[in-house]
Amino acid sequence: FDTSLYIPDLQASWASEGGQASYALLIRCFVLVNSTTSRIKIVDTLVNCIRLLIESDPASLLHAVWLATNSISPPYISLELGLGGSAISKALKTVCGLDNRALKAMNDRLGDPGDVAFEAKKKGSFTLRKPKPLTIQGVYGMLRKIAMAEGKGSAEMKQRIVERLLQDARGGEESRYIVRTLCQHLRIGAVKTTMLIALSRAFLLSRPPGAEFPIRDRAELAKRKKEELAEVWARGEEIVKACFARRPNYNDLVPVLLEIGITEELLIRCNLTCHIPLRPMLGSITRDLSEMLTKLQGRDFACEYKYDGQRAQVHCDEKGKVSIFSRHLELMTDKYPDLVALVPKFRGEGVQSFIMEGEVVAVDRQTGELRNFQTLTNRARKDVELGSITIDVCLFAFDLMYLNGQPLLDRPFRERRELLRSLFVEIPHHFTWVKSLDATSQDSEAVLEFFKSALDIKCEGIMVKILDNLPDLEYGDGDPETEVVEKPAKKPAKGKAKASEKDVPEKKKGRRKPLLATYEPDKRLDSWLKVKKDYNAEFDTLDLIPVAAWHGTGRKAKWWSPILLAVRNDETGSLEAVCKCMSGFTDAFYKANREFYDDGEISGEPKNISFKKPSFVEYAGQPDVWFEPQEVWEMAFADITISPTYTAAIGLVDEDKGLSLRFPRFLKKREDKGLEEASTSEFLAGLWRKQEAKTPAAGEKD
Ligand code: ATP
Repeated sequence: FDTSLYIPDLQASWASEGGQASYALLIRCFVLVNSTTSRIKIVDTLVNCIRLLIESDPASLLHAVWLATNSISPPYISLELGLGGSAISKALKTVCGLDNRALKAMNDRLGDPGDVAFEAKKKGSFTLRKPKPLTIQGVYGMLRKIAMAEGKGSAEMKQRIVERLLQDARGGEESRYIVRTLCQHLRIGAVKTTMLIALSRAFLLSRPPGAEFPIRDRAELAKRKKEELAEVWARGEEIVKACFARRPNYNDLVPVLLEIGITEELLIRCNLTCHIPLRPMLGSITRDLSEMLTKLQGRDFACEYKYDGQRAQVHCDEKGKVSIFSRHLELMTDKYPDLVALVPKFRGEGVQSFIMEGEVVAVDRQTGELRNFQTLTNRARKDVELGSITIDVCLFAFDLMYLNGQPLLDRPFRERRELLRSLFVEIPHHFTWVKSLDATSQDSEAVLEFFKSALDIKCEGIMVKILDNLPDLEYGDGDPETEVVEKPAKKPAKGKAKASEKDVPEKKKGRRKPLLATYEPDKRLDSWLKVKKDYNAEFDTLDLIPVAAWHGTGRKAKWWSPILLAVRNDETGSLEAVCKCMSGFTDAFYKANREFYDDGEISGEPKNISFKKPSFVEYAGQPDVWFEPQEVWEMAFADITISPTYTAAIGLVDEDKGLSLRFPRFLKKREDKGLEEASTSEFLAGLWRKQEAKTPAAGEKD
């Protein structure tokens, strides 16, 4: 990172409109970000843009962060733009003087609505009034106005704002990104992680007025050793990510950053609080019980039934107000009025406020017998009336993260669980604790029995959780739990005859953090392991995103087949192609799929389809159509191979080649997963490494 200069190009785009940072600055940043696939450059550009704002117009920073992450509010505050594609088309026609035919031709040729706006605006626009240069704050304000408009006349009002935005947009690029923002497909790869890294670096380098932070000025920065700096970067990132995992709302994070910069105090200021959901801790998959037992050797752990329902975070404050959030942080209090009514009954004496987590499962009213997940999905999503409930549920609590105003995240699981069990009151068939068994790796038979008993009552398998923290371990002390991470040695650059010893970096040895029994929001660690029944099968599964397709032939001529699937690159936000699939689909599925991704043949208008390759998809082939990424599909496969054609995980296991799946087969749609939860390239690379570790070397096979 060049710490002495802002990217001059960005600095030149700095312009203030009436004292506020112009939208042009942000657009220049988007264009620069979009022009590269290098993650380092993307982060640097964002860092520089954020620094310019911190130092010159801090009041615009929060709005810039929302715009760059293509959202206007966190998931638990339901604020939707609620704009159809037709509002944007209508605005383009009005502002750029296009007729239906011209617009359709452009749509067909370009595919992406942002690109259409770019071209349309370049051709000129009717100015009914003098355009006013857009500012970052102004654009964000208008988006909020669109989202808040409701009732009579709101559609016209939204339309007027969209037209105003397009009219005021200067040139093609501003129009392109205004339209992409309105369509909620910004495609600049400033996904959450990238934004948090950029914020942490920018705040380590630029001082908001009056704030204290580790790196005071450039002279000090220059004096610091590389390793020391790396430590400061890492701690900064860690703090910012931890804050956002506890309060996933930029409205909470950015103002505090501006006030105090990056210090340990940030963690206190952005800590857990009732009615703001924390990002849940996640479990790592294991292939089977024996892999789990090996991983947890020497530790005490709890095996718990893995119920097949919906994860719920239940918050209750001192006044008895209850909020319930989903795994994706959406507010679902209205869906479970029966649970809300239950809280005063299961909240024991001495409990004033709490945040607990559990699985909501559909059950039989009389017997309490578990019903499957499908039954639960039959319950309405909103405004369920207490008196009209037909699907009964039971909350199986498994964790307590906050109690009487105090976060419990740093307490070991054994202690949190004890508080959960002792302070709350069981209500048979309605509220209870997950069934569990405490064990060590010596107890393999008891664990196997427990696993079987979970499957017998239709659970998905078991969750296995570390109970206690180990005493502090020295870094690199050779503890069996600590993993040696080996990075592949870089290949010599092309043209170099032979790499000298020095050119090949030493295999990096590091270790994973010791397995702690703390609750780690937003992290997927080995301290929570999932053992599912399907994992006993030959293969793991991946959650992939369908991104493109070819016209089928023969019997499948009317449908899309094969379909191209991709993994998500968590760092760049791009989708990397991993395989084509034509297996596991039923005819009914193909038909519904063809209707959902319609190139215009079925309904006359293209829907969820583009004819031009989206910039965020990494694939060199030529499918017939590109899908708008919408869904997550669970896929089985035989094994993972290195591939020169597919781009998935490129650079992670080989410098130039990606990974692909052999015999991919569709299993089911993951309706419960958003795109951001699809499998990542990092995860795929991990599976490949695991597979390679298991494959006997050629000699051994012989
Ligand atoms: P993940 O949530 O780990 O990203 P996923 O959506 O594919 O993955 P699963 O692999 O099915 O989910 O496993 C995790 C989920 O299992 C949790 O999110 C939670 O809803 C559910 N669950 C059921 N029982 C338990 C339990 N005892 N402890 C923790 N989670 C449980």
